[in-house]
Amino acid sequence: MSETIRIGEGQGHASMGIAAELVRDPPALPAQAIVKAMLAWYDRDHRDLPWRAAAGATSDPYGVWLSEIMLQQTTVKAVVPYYTAFVKRWSTVNALARAPREDVLGAWAGLGYYSRARNLHECAKVVAGKLGGKFPADPAELVKLPGIGPYTAAAIAAIAFNGRAMPVDGNVERVVARLAAVEEPLPAAKTQLRSLAEGLTPKARCGDFAQAMMDLGASVCSPRRPSCMICPLKDLCQGRRAEIADALPRRSPKPERPLRHGVAFVAVSERGEVLLRRRPDKGLLGGMSEVPSTEWQEEWLPAEDALRQAPVKAGWFAIPGAVTHTFTHFRLGLMVFRAHVRNNPSLTLWARQKDCRWVHRDALDGEALPSVMRKVIAHALDEME
Ligand code: SF4
Repeated sequence: MSETIRIGEGQGHASMGIAAELVRDPPALPAQAIVKAMLAWYDRDHRDLPWRAAAGATSDPYGVWLSEIMLQQTTVKAVVPYYTAFVKRWSTVNALARAPREDVLGAWAGLGYYSRARNLHECAKVVAGKLGGKFPADPAELVKLPGIGPYTAAAIAAIAFNGRAMPVDGNVERVVARLAAVEEPLPAAKTQLRSLAEGLTPKARCGDFAQAMMDLGASVCSPRRPSCMICPLKDLCQGRRAEIADALPRRSPKPERPLRHGVAFVAVSERGEVLLRRRPDKGLLGGMSEVPSTEWQEEWLPAEDALRQAPVKAGWFAIPGAVTHTFTHFRLGLMVFRAHVRNNPSLTLWARQKDCRWVHRDALDGEALPSVMRKVIAHALDEME
C-alpha cells in the first residue's frame, strides 16, 4: 500500500498556514466476498417496503420509479404514506399521466422539493405517451426522462430490470468509504467512492445487491454510530479495523446557506376564505400555491414598503414572530401580516389577480401548498383560534 502526502488540502487548519494531510491509497475491495455476505444478509434481514418485490424477484418499474423519485432528499418513513396514497389513486403510469397536474401537486404537498412532482408528472406523460407505457431498462435511456438523474436511472435499471448498474447515493458512499477506509474528504472523494462502489456490482442479483447496500447504509452502517458488531461486512471492513469507521466519510466544511427575507400576506374573508395565488411554473416551488408575498431578498423590507405590496387594501397587522424555513440553497425568514376583508374585495396590482383565488380555510389541506406556506398560514390563523 503506498502513501501520498497532499499539501494544502487540510481544512480547518488555517492558522497552521500550509497544512499537510496524510492520505492513504484505499485498498482494493474483496468484491466477491462482499457480494456474498451482503446477499445472504439481504435474504435474511431486508426491510419490507411497499414498493419492493420478494428477494430474488424483480419489482414493478412504475413502483420503483415512483418510490425512487419520492426518496430523493426524503426519508423512507416520510415516503411510505405518500407512496401508498399515490399507487392507490394512480395504480399505473398511464393513470398518473392522465391526472390533472394540480391533483398530482396536491397529493405531493408536504413531501418538499416540488420540482420533483412536476417532473414526475412530465415523466409519466412521456412514458405513457411516446414510450407506450413502458419504462426503458437502459440507464442511458432512463436519464433522458424528466426528473431522472444517474442515481435514479441506476436504481431503476438494477431494481426493476436486474440490470448491471450500481446506484450510488450518500448511504452507499458512506458504506464504501468505511469499507475501504477512504480518508479523502467529500465532495472530492466522490469519483473514487463511485468507482469503488461500481467495482462491487455483481453479475447476477444486481437489484438485490443494490437494495442490500441501501439497507445497510440506512440501518446498520448509520452516519454517527455504525453498528459494526451486527454488520455482515465486519470482517471485511478496513474502516472498522483501523477504528476510524465512525469518522468516515470525512467532509470538507460546507459554506453557510445565505439568508433571504420576505413578507407574506394572509387575507381572510368574512366567509372564512384565504387568498391563495399560483406561483409561476418556472423556478422554486413552481406551479404550487402560496399566499401572496413580497420578493424574497437579502434584506428585510421595511414594513411600510412591504405593505404597499399587499394584495388587498385593508387594515393589515403583523403577527408576532417570523416563520423560518430552510431550502436546499438558502434559508428563508418570512414576516407574516394578516387582514380581515369583506368577501370578494378588489385586488391590487401586486396581487397578480389572474393567479389568485379564494379557498375556504377548511379546504386548505387539499391544496398544493408547500410546507413553508402551510407554516405561514398556521402562524397567521392559529392566533385566531
Ligand atoms: Fe459500516 Fe461497521 Fe459494517 Fe464497516 S463494519 S460497513 S463501518 S457497519
